[in-house]
Formats: sequence, C-alpha cells, structure tokens
Amino acid sequence: MDTVLPRTGRPESARAATISLVVPCYNEDDAFPYFRAAVGDLHAVLAARYAVELVLVDDGSRDGTWGQIQRFAADCPWVRGVALSRNFGHQAALTCGLQFATGDAVVSLDADLQDPPAVVAEMVAAWQAGADVVYAVRRSRAGESRFKRWTAALFYRVARQLGADDLRADAGDFRLMSRASLDALLSMPEKHRFIRGMVGWIGFRTAEIHYDRRARVAGTTKYPLHKMLRLAADAIVSCSTVPLRFPYYFAVSLSACCMGYMLSLVVQHYVNGEEFVRGWTSLMVAIITFGCLTLCCLGILGEYIGRIYEQVKDRPLYLVRDTVGPPPAAESTGR
Ligand code: UDP
Ligand code: MG
Repeated sequence: MDTVLPRTGRPESARAATISLVVPCYNEDDAFPYFRAAVGDLHAVLAARYAVELVLVDDGSRDGTWGQIQRFAADCPWVRGVALSRNFGHQAALTCGLQFATGDAVVSLDADLQDPPAVVAEMVAAWQAGADVVYAVRRSRAGESRFKRWTAALFYRVARQLGADDLRADAGDFRLMSRASLDALLSMPEKHRFIRGMVGWIGFRTAEIHYDRRARVAGTTKYPLHKMLRLAADAIVSCSTVPLRFPYYFAVSLSACCMGYMLSLVVQHYVNGEEFVRGWTSLMVAIITFGCLTLCCLGILGEYIGRIYEQVKDRPLYLVRDTVGPPPAAESTGR
C-alpha cells in the first residue's frame, strides 16, 4: 500500500488510494465506444494498485451518449454517470464531475481520446512522487487546424500580457489533482469558470508530463468558434482586471493627440493666418474615433458587470437530471 504525506490528500492508512477519472461528454455517441475500450484498458492497469472510479458527466447530449453511459455503468460497478438537465458547457460539466469525484487523486480528461488515457499512469506516478497538480502538456497537436493552433498561441500570449502569469501554456484540462488541491479549487465560487486559470492560481506543488495530442477519434469538435471566444473572454476577465484600465490609456493617448491638433490649429491661425473654421473631415474623424472608443470601453465594462450580475444571482453552475452507478458520498448542489 502507498503511505504518503497527508498534506497532499493521499491516504496514510493501509487502504488503497482511489483514483477518479472525470470525463465531460457532449454528443459523444461516435467517440464513446472507443473511449470505453481505452478507459477499460486504463482501468485494468490502475486497478492492480488503486481503487478506480470513473465519473462520466453527460452535458445535456441530444444523441445516444447518456444511453451508452447508462449501459457502461450497468456493466461496471466503478462507473458513475451524471446527466445534466441541459448543455451547461464544458467548464460547468467538468466542475460537476470534479464535485462528484471522491478520489484521493482526480484526473480530468476528454471523451474523444485526444487526451490518451494511457498517459494517466505517468500522471499518477508523478502524484505519488509528491506533486499535487500534474499538468499534461501538449508536445504536439495532431488533428488541430492551423487556425486553432494559431489562436491558442495568441490567446496564451495575450492572457500572459494581461497578467495571467500562472496559466500554464499548452496544458488544457487534461490534468491530475490531489484531493487537497482539488478541494482548494472547488472552494472557489466563480460562476464563469476558466478552470485551467483557476488551477494555476491555487499554486500547490506542480509537475508536468509531456504528451503528443492526438486527433479526435470520432465525431466533430464540440467547441465551435463562438464557444472558444466565450471561453477566452471568461479566461481574460477572470484572470485579469487590466482591460478595465484601457479607457485610461485611450483617454491619455487621445487627449495628447487632441492637444497636439489644437496646438497646430492655433499655430496655423496666428503664424500662417489661416481661418479657424476648417473642414468637415477632421471633425467627423474625431467624432467617430471618440464614439468608437467610448463604445469599446462600455463593452469592456459590460463584460465585467455582466459577470458580477451572474455572480450576484448565484444560480447553480449546473442542474442534475439523473444519475447512475454508485451513489455519491455527498449530494452535489451545483455550487
Ligand atoms: N464538452 C462538454 N460540453 C460542451 C462541449 C464539450 O462536455 O459544451 C466535452 C466534449 O464531449 C469533450 C470535451 O468536453 O469530452 C472537449 O470537447 P472537444 O473535444 O469537442 O473540444 P476540442 O478538443 O475540440 O477543443
Ligand atoms: Mg477534443
């Protein structure tokens, strides 16, 4: 049996540690049979040393995903399924799975096998060596379009510039967390969750393993452009208040330009003897520039105020419609 430090959440007693695997699934009918086979192989490897539980969260799928989860749970006592009442989005579904997981170490991964389950054994070894958070960092990204790779690189660059220093680039939501670090994460009550940013913020002892990200095994991405943009906005707004200072920057730089322009008018009038009444174009340019910047600043404020509003409403992050498999240790409230 593994006897390790209590601070990490690993058990001190003789009982086998439990590894939880948490997988959000949304319309994964095509990929699920492959996932089931791969996770079965992983279970066979891990079960020699650990108790294993698999928490599958159906994020309001409209295909046969929930049926497949129900069959999997009926066949295997280590599988638990949670069906949400509608599609709440990947980050909410993942949070739900993390709240339901009871393990001493909890690994989150995707259902499309882009995160190869075989890598989990390496992550568990890093946890056993003392890490609380084990990031799986992408060495290569097969099956991702050039556009997606480029926007991902740009996103991490911008987020870092805006102060999200804790964000580990090229690490998605494929990671292992010890019980202690997971409890710290779950104590954060944000409604608009950018989990990888939050995990960076909590600290703890971290380790990295590197892997080659594969192409999706079947089906299509469930992250279309508008969801990606939403996530990027959540990420930046949740990690940084720097955008709130943009109006000051605009105001200072534009005021400097205006002062220069006014000065040039005065010089032209008194030195060159030109009339003050000048063209329509410069006036329009000034009005349009200021109008656009004012709207832009209002938009930035709106992003923050909208999130404050959502937070104050304090609605649950998700609602559970149904569960299968072993009952959870404690009822999860979605908060
Ligand atoms: N997913 C989810 N809810 C959503 C979108 C995605 O639970 O609203 C799940 C999806 O089933 C998969 C994981 O989140 O297991 C990552 O989604 P996907 O593979 O489509 O994203 P990509 O890898 O293309 O960024
Ligand atoms: Mg994927």
